[in-house]
Amino acid sequence: MNLQELIRPNIQALKPYSSARSEYTGEGSVFLDANENPFSNGYNRYPDPLQRELKNQIARIKNISPDTIFLGNGSDEAIDLIFRIFCEPGKDNVIAPEPTYGMYEVCAQINNVDYRKICLCDDFQPDPIKMLQAADANTKIIFLCSPNNPTGNLLDEQLIREILDSFHGIVVLDEAYIDFASRTSMLSEISKYPHLIILQTFSKAWGQAAIRLGMAFAAPTIIEYFNKVKYPYNINVLTQQHALQLLTQQEIVSEQIEKINEERTRLIRELEKLEKIIRVYPTDANFVLIRVLDADAIYRDLTMQGVIVRNRNKITLCEGCLRITIGTQEENDLLLNQLRRM
Ligand SMILES: *Cc1c(COP(=O)(O)O)cnc(C)c1O
Repeated sequence: MNLQELIRPNIQALKPYSSARSEYTGEGSVFLDANENPFSNGYNRYPDPLQRELKNQIARIKNISPDTIFLGNGSDEAIDLIFRIFCEPGKDNVIAPEPTYGMYEVCAQINNVDYRKICLCDDFQPDPIKMLQAADANTKIIFLCSPNNPTGNLLDEQLIREILDSFHGIVVLDEAYIDFASRTSMLSEISKYPHLIILQTFSKAWGQAAIRLGMAFAAPTIIEYFNKVKYPYNINVLTQQHALQLLTQQEIVSEQIEKINEERTRLIRELEKLEKIIRVYPTDANFVLIRVLDADAIYRDLTMQGVIVRNRNKITLCEGCLRITIGTQEENDLLLNQLRRM
């Protein structure tokens, strides 16, 4: 596989914007190059466009090289850049399982890229043969999400490998929920598969949805294209500083993940006792998908009591389903009490 051939010709040819902070990266003492206000207030200077300090810390924790990391304004930015780097609008197409995270399809539509949905099997696993059969010469990307949103299950690693071995475009593996899962990340595979991009985020297990910080991991050649196409200063200094601070408190996050997973076990056990719930699906994420008799009615009733879950009733394979995020013990008890009362 030739990676260069997957890149849009205009992106291959692109001469990126060269910011003041990327043209000079040394230890100067008088910075008169970026038209900043010279009076120091902690925020008057442009931030590091490549977030070097933060990437070094992430690289250390994840045991990978910093040049395999891209940081974005949430995973959303990484997803959008993937379309803009690889997919020619009006010509190329991508393949994704259905149901999965809705952002891939929205991004495809925004970029005028044909989005081909391949239904998951009844056990919510992908069918590699069907996915590969949907591919043609203009298929640039296959999206996979593991654990999958909204179904909650991990994708079978063997099936992921089958797709990686047979597909010669880009494979995006979204691991937004991997820290809650019983299996570890496939991050170490990026050195083996030059066409694999793994997405992770600070929004879920790390508890930082508000700071908007997403990660993409891939071979350095791909990361270079991310850096070429992204906004010059895409991660602001508040986010960079906050994330650096957070990375020194990993034990707190680990404890929270443990508590959430314990609550997940308890919530599932209690939900299974309820007659109006037909099925509680197995989950490796911090949410659980349940099938009920009348999803719309239960959703409305819960909403009226101030308990908001996600109604997935209209989604393929999720007819009659609600997606419930694991809350604190008190929150989960409130939910259970409302469900028991109905
Ligand atoms: C929540 C979620 C994300 C996170 O998106 P951010 O933009 O990083 O907040 C990514 N992928 C999936 C599948 C998600 O459910």
